[in-house]
Amino acid sequence: MTSTLIHNIGLLVGTRPRGHGAAAGHAAAGPFADAAPHAHGAHAAGPLAGAALAHLPSLTDAWLLVTDGRIAAFGQGHPHGPQGGLVATPQGASPLPAVYRQLDASGALVLPSWCDSHTHLVFAGYREGEFVDKIRGLTYAEIAARGGGILRSARLLNETPEDVLYVNAWARLHECMQQGTGAIEIKSGYGLSVEGELKMLRVIRRLKENAPIPVRATFLGAHALPDAYKDDREGYINLIIEKMLPQIAAEGLADYIDVFCEEGFFTQEETERIGRAGETYGLKAKLHANQLHRSGGVQAGVALKALSVDHLETMGQEEIDCLKGSNTIATLLPGAAFFLRMGYPPARAMVDAGLPLALASDYNPGSCPSGNMNLVVSLACIQMRLLPEEAINAATLNGAYAMGLGEEVGSITEGKRANLLFMRPVPSLAYLPYAFGTNCIDRVMVNGEFLLY
Ligand SMILES: [Zn+2]
Repeated sequence: MTSTLIHNIGLLVGTRPRGHGAAAGHAAAGPFADAAPHAHGAHAAGPLAGAALAHLPSLTDAWLLVTDGRIAAFGQGHPHGPQGGLVATPQGASPLPAVYRQLDASGALVLPSWCDSHTHLVFAGYREGEFVDKIRGLTYAEIAARGGGILRSARLLNETPEDVLYVNAWARLHECMQQGTGAIEIKSGYGLSVEGELKMLRVIRRLKENAPIPVRATFLGAHALPDAYKDDREGYINLIIEKMLPQIAAEGLADYIDVFCEEGFFTQEETERIGRAGETYGLKAKLHANQLHRSGGVQAGVALKALSVDHLETMGQEEIDCLKGSNTIATLLPGAAFFLRMGYPPARAMVDAGLPLALASDYNPGSCPSGNMNLVVSLACIQMRLLPEEAINAATLNGAYAMGLGEEVGSITEGKRANLLFMRPVPSLAYLPYAFGTNCIDRVMVNGEFLLY
């Protein structure tokens, strides 16, 4: 048993009792508030919705005990009691282990690591040429006509050996970890062929096996219609349902299924059909919805009881109302809106409607070539007017729930992984999103050990 006692933490952020992921004492108007017990204001475990999103419980002058890579206890003040044991903690008094390391946090602000629930970080090549073309004024359609876009990524991916994909994805994953990501979801979707999709998912499986942080895999065969099927939509959808899904399920390669529900890609009906096929193999839906148009993606997600609907740049009241009656998490990807110079999702209206919001990076070569969640949190505050507490909750605990890891990461909770961010000296929590582009992270802890740079 390896234990580390971290003391002299200036501010320990996101402290929550076990089994109560959602905040206490803030009644939300959303679906999760309705299900919550009222005694002592405690909520059942689940993502934070509506007003609860602004509640980010923290302890000043705190300590934290890590045992075997997990949070064993935490509390306020000095950890040593009169008999050398721990003082009372929110979880009750617990004795110190016989042998432990001590670590002085020097007054640092300590946060749970970012939980990035939407990425495409397995890819074969960057698309900075298209980036320059767009600066010069080319439209998406013109770029596509020159062989760009998702189909360019698909061609490159199918030509690239699995080992090369793996090495490059590993480097990107490591970069994300250095930037504070402590759990991540990764999608396929640049294969668009049976072999290509399986190759991507096998790369993700290798990342899952070898990475020290939790990795979740999502099958996104329905990302675009490949060239070979451009006149045969039905043929490609059948390929996904009849060829890809059974093999993916047989090899246990995916945790979730995703569809790009968008004009020119997949319709609401096709999305539901593919989602239901995934369901029969135990894959819950996480959808690309309402990025460019009110495509019916939100409605499809709610019909499929999706874990999350992601993007949501184009939302009407109808879509907000639709989500209100569901347990589907609204995941916003402001990095993509920023990079594409698009309008941002109406985040405030969604919070005010009582919805649970998560934030993720959408790291991909075409529309968001960055996995930096610190910047995502800043963009959420600056461009979508989320409060720092709301953005941090959305990028930690709600991100964890948006990839089925709400009991594993995302808050300072007994039993969760000690995946933590130790910040450089900062004047306050609000300084983190305020000082956008500044690297505020001093050290990153993964499973109780500091990452080496
Ligand atoms: Zn995406």
